[in-house]
Amino acid sequence: MVLLATNADDISKAVRFAQDSNIDLAIRGGGHSVAGTSSSDGGLVIDLSRMRKVTVDPVGKTITAQGGALWADVDLTAAAHGLATVGGTVNHTGIGGLTLGGGYGWLSAKYGLVIDNLISAKMVLADGRIVNTSATEEPDLFWAIRGAGHNFGVAVEFVYQGYEQVNQVYAGPLVFSMDKLESVIEVLNATLQTPDENSAAICALSKRPGAPDISLIVIVFYNGNEEDAKRRFEGLFALKPEVADAKMIPYSEVNTLMNAAAVHGGRRSFKGLFFSPPLRLDFARSIASIMAQKLNNEPDMAGSVLVLEFFDMRKTLEVKLTDTAFANRGTTLNGILSLRYEDPANDAKYRQWARDLQMLFKQELDEARKGLESCGEGVPQYINYAERKSIIPLFPLPNTSQLHNKEKRQGGIELTLL
Ligand SMILES: Cc1cc2nc3c(=O)[nH]c(=O)nc-3n(C[C@H](O)[C@H](O)[C@H](O)COP(=O)(O)OP(=O)(O)OC[C@H]3O[C@@H](n4cnc5c(N)ncnc54)[C@H](O)[C@@H]3O)c2cc1C
Repeated sequence: MVLLATNADDISKAVRFAQDSNIDLAIRGGGHSVAGTSSSDGGLVIDLSRMRKVTVDPVGKTITAQGGALWADVDLTAAAHGLATVGGTVNHTGIGGLTLGGGYGWLSAKYGLVIDNLISAKMVLADGRIVNTSATEEPDLFWAIRGAGHNFGVAVEFVYQGYEQVNQVYAGPLVFSMDKLESVIEVLNATLQTPDENSAAICALSKRPGAPDISLIVIVFYNGNEEDAKRRFEGLFALKPEVADAKMIPYSEVNTLMNAAAVHGGRRSFKGLFFSPPLRLDFARSIASIMAQKLNNEPDMAGSVLVLEFFDMRKTLEVKLTDTAFANRGTTLNGILSLRYEDPANDAKYRQWARDLQMLFKQELDEARKGLESCGEGVPQYINYAERKSIIPLFPLPNTSQLHNKEKRQGGIELTLL
């Protein structure tokens, strides 16, 4: 059963109905859950796709968006008022799931996470009550929905802090042949050591249509003018990319740059990755070789992509780990292995291959942290990139009752999320 809700009362009634009928309940925002948590087999889905209204208070610089809005709705409406806020890097992603799980975006280096810019929310609770939550109203609920929010109620509306945003920014892809891999990673590692709140980069390994081999694609972003951007990324330009399509574009288009690589359809599976910068060059090469071997030899999987985010975390770390329920706040960086294929017969084989590759990232992180008693940081696995069962690296040390023998043998911990 699917309810196409149009207001908070609809949602409240539906939540009560699900409770009274004792049936499974799922909420669908933008529908991009990598764990399938916005679907229900046999239960009730409250679909928020008719609740996408966004309004802006240009004086208070706030952006109010209904819980079913997509980032495109927020980006475009805010841009019409010369504003922006931190949002997802693919603009057909929903604000609901992305916000409630934390939220990283191109502006995170400057403004932190999406939740760090959340001022308040209107929620329908499990008993059907409709409440406002903020730092001063229902503060415990506000703590919980910032990072662990998918199960504390239905977010009917979010209010975000907006910021004045220059219209034109520098962004786009630079494509390199694989022999440049180590040099490119060296430059990206170096950018993190000389941080600039206006800059960010995402590095992807994927196969362009018809190409014999995978390529290394770096999407660069600079929240400023072309001259400063070119200076910032001069190390990358010096490596002579095969394609250099970065240019000045409206900020509202930045979150469309990766839309094509994230189209709907096909059989998809996501594996969250994590690494502690600097990314080790030998490790990067071994991962690239595994990707090349698979994508070059398995035509069904050729559309898959491995993405690593080179985001400056200093602003995100200004908020204490315990100030919100967001467990991933730390110095580790995130990535995604996105499998894309068509043949259901390949499900088990490809997913196992992806899990094995994910495990290499876990082992690499464990190795980097060997000998450290505690890093005092959050969980490296970002919940919004996690499947229901996720491999969580060892820091912080978990409650040992969460371990079971198989995972102990592997040196990893498998926790059931959501
Ligand atoms: C192509 C792609 C790009 C992505 N890019 C980014 C990125 O740049 N930054 C980032 O941080 N993450 C990113 N993600 C991960 C993203 O944050 C999660 O997939 C997120 O859950 C998507 O939210 P959604 O509303 O689209 O998904 P849905 O599948 O609709 O929902 C995901 C979860 O949130 C719950 N939910 C959704 N809306 C509400 C609501 N209003 N109230 C209560 N619960 C709700 C659902 O029940 C479900 O449990 C990306 C994912 C994809 C697939």
